[in-house]
Amino acid sequence: MGTIIDDSPPEADQTGLFMTTFPVGPLQCNCTIIGDRTSGEALVVDPGGDGQLILDTLVDHGLSRVVRIIHTHAHFDHFLAAGHVQAEAAKRCGCAVPIGLHKEDKPLWDNLEAQCARFSIPYTPPPPVDDWLADEEELTLPGCPTLKGVALHTPGHTPGSMSFYFEAQKLLVAGDTLFRGSIGRTDLWGGDYAAIERSIKQRLYTLDEATEVITGHGPLTTLGFEMRHNGFVTA
Ligand SMILES: [Zn+2]
Ligand SMILES: [Zn+2]
Repeated sequence: MGTIIDDSPPEADQTGLFMTTFPVGPLQCNCTIIGDRTSGEALVVDPGGDGQLILDTLVDHGLSRVVRIIHTHAHFDHFLAAGHVQAEAAKRCGCAVPIGLHKEDKPLWDNLEAQCARFSIPYTPPPPVDDWLADEEELTLPGCPTLKGVALHTPGHTPGSMSFYFEAQKLLVAGDTLFRGSIGRTDLWGGDYAAIERSIKQRLYTLDEATEVITGHGPLTTLGFEMRHNGFVTA
């Protein structure tokens, strides 16, 4: 079903914090769940399809409360299941489940129908975004003090592309900004090669090089490997 990055937290971690990532949807976007078994809370990143698989994975790990659904960017393959997951997750916990995105990707979010048409993919209207993510915004789970993430605005692949960094866990969710040995394309709407290069060099390659990178598609990597071997942007 996908790669379990850390399914058996070290004994020192009393919180039951863990992360899992697995490919979903028509373009096999890597969806990530960061959860805490103790509090039952979770962040869901990039629900790009297969909503039922995402919901089942939450149940399998005892995660009954999705605190936020956040998106690295608004290409259709990263949010096709946002509405399904939001609706079901809200029912389960009886609370609101906000949908997060950087404001500069709003035109893409609002343009889902056309994005789907181009790939002949059935369209259902996405829920409204109600959690506009800002650069340097904290990402936390209220019941899990050891998780302290930050949202980094890393434009270039799209104007509102973000990367989510969890320093203590040495984990970066990079979306389509960085791939193993490659970078995101910049020839689509709003793409900007100079910007993606700047984002990677100034925002990502300045982080701990031991950080594991969950890419938007395909294999995971580390920042250190990309700093030295990436064919497009080296440190
Ligand atoms: Zn993309
Ligand atoms: Zn993608």
